[in-house]
Amino acid sequence: GESTKNTVDQGKFDIPLPDAEMGKVVTRFPPEPSGYLHIGHAKAALLNDYFARSWNGKLLLRFDDTNPSKEKEEFETSIKEDLALIGIKPDVVSHTSDHFDKLYDFALALIKKGKAYVDDTDQETMRAQRMDGIESKCRDLSVDENLRRFKEMTEGTEWGVTACLRAKISMTNPNKAMRDPVVYRCNLVPHHITGSKYKVYPTYDFACPLVDSIEGVTHALRTNEYRDRNDQYQWMLEACGVRKVHLWDFSRLNFVYTLLSKRKLTWFVAQGLVKGWDDPRFPTVRGIRRRGLTIDALRQYILIQGASQSAVLLEWDKLWAVNKKVIDPVAPRHTAIEKKAIVKVHVLDETVSTDVKDLPKHKKNPAVGTKRTTFSSAIYLEQTDARELVVDEEVTLMDWGNAFIKAIRKAGDGTVQEIDIRLNLDGDFKKTKRKLTWLSQVAVGTNGKAEAPAELKLKDYDFLITKKKLEEDDDVADCLAPVTEFATEAVGDVNLKLCKKGDIIQLERKGFFIIDVPYDSSSRVIELILIPDGKESTVS
Ligand code: ATP
Ligand code: MG
Ligand code: MG
Repeated sequence: GESTKNTVDQGKFDIPLPDAEMGKVVTRFPPEPSGYLHIGHAKAALLNDYFARSWNGKLLLRFDDTNPSKEKEEFETSIKEDLALIGIKPDVVSHTSDHFDKLYDFALALIKKGKAYVDDTDQETMRAQRMDGIESKCRDLSVDENLRRFKEMTEGTEWGVTACLRAKISMTNPNKAMRDPVVYRCNLVPHHITGSKYKVYPTYDFACPLVDSIEGVTHALRTNEYRDRNDQYQWMLEACGVRKVHLWDFSRLNFVYTLLSKRKLTWFVAQGLVKGWDDPRFPTVRGIRRRGLTIDALRQYILIQGASQSAVLLEWDKLWAVNKKVIDPVAPRHTAIEKKAIVKVHVLDETVSTDVKDLPKHKKNPAVGTKRTTFSSAIYLEQTDARELVVDEEVTLMDWGNAFIKAIRKAGDGTVQEIDIRLNLDGDFKKTKRKLTWLSQVAVGTNGKAEAPAELKLKDYDFLITKKKLEEDDDVADCLAPVTEFATEAVGDVNLKLCKKGDIIQLERKGFFIIDVPYDSSSRVIELILIPDGKESTVS
């Protein structure tokens, strides 16, 4: 298995953090437990972790659980597991709900100071009034009336559930985030931790700054598309009279042909369009891991981007290219041949008898170990290679030596059925045009007994959607790619039967693969997933 330690040299990345003091920096990653972590969340988590570690400070993990309609225990568990998977160990784990009583008191205090009012304007009107800078009819209610109304919200009365509490900031501020944002709203759905104790919940806009301040966060990292809300964040702290927090912006991660929204990913799972949150086509931490992205590559890629403020649409290729650099020096090399129209080859030399050799799994890295390779007079070639060959041509059999093509027998449609060859092991491999992948039809297994090659299923995937950049008003259902999963049957060297789930290997001349289903007594077919290597770079 691959190491999940942080092997990236953090010193290589120089991302500045204003007003940071050694030993005093406190950052936080605040996911809502409403889905599995995706690569965008991984960026946020890794940056927070990077600052906490490089300043000898603390990283808080806070579940932002202010909306019981979307949140579940299951997601908290998966988020913790996924953070561990990417090498992040938070120093403290908390919930926004730990602070519900304090937040409620802050809300009451705001009302008493005349800085908040209860509004029962319907949502649509409220939205329009915010756009046009029009004050609500409820804006100038008395403190007593607001307290009475907030009590109705707290009790979740029939009228209470139609109302919300708004901060009284300004309805004319050019920054619309300052136009009296909602700070509390009703929800009668039981909360996954506090049950039915509360019927009103703080909004993210209210809870986040206050809990940051209460929990001692010094630097709150946010994606820069929320920059408009920075003033609002600071207003909440000031209005409640609590310690200030530095905001630090970074750019949101976006990839071509990719959905990075828990809501949309949930829809794919619910529709059965993917096989689960760890589907290799998914941009979730689990999905990309299962497809063979190493944690090393993920960390490097994200820290290389570091503080960049430009929210560009990224290509997947660069990430996979970083990954290739990580896996190439250590991935064991194996052999596989496509089953479709497989070609039987007879080695005509009388002297060839079945022989076994231990060969290095990686020519440049002896530490990777050795594999058993069987040499015999009955071998297989792949149809695509065989079709190119001509009689009397000299070729090189990989890891064996040269041979002359003596005869080629074809079917009526031109498919090669059988080939005869004669070895020329003293021949110069530098002089041959073709280096062929081959496999003995019968191998000496790892237990010393004769056996057939390993049965393989090679899987590959395509993007789930056909649109490079999905806009807010696009309907995902209109952009679904019709076929996104592909499989090829193959046979491979018997050493593959020893691979474990998650092992990353190279199949010579085919690419890098990750073992998805290993060989065992119940699953004889080894399933492997092709790891993109960043070479299919598309024009952008
Ligand atoms: P989603 O819409 O996918 O649910 P979110 O922003 O609502 O995303 P949260 O669980 O609230 O999800 O996010 C936790 C943290 O991850 C936040 O700090 C958020 O800014 C950050 N984050 C989410 N998506 C991205 C992204 N694509 N790139 C960078 N950071 C992200
Ligand atoms: Mg959110
Ligand atoms: Mg979102």
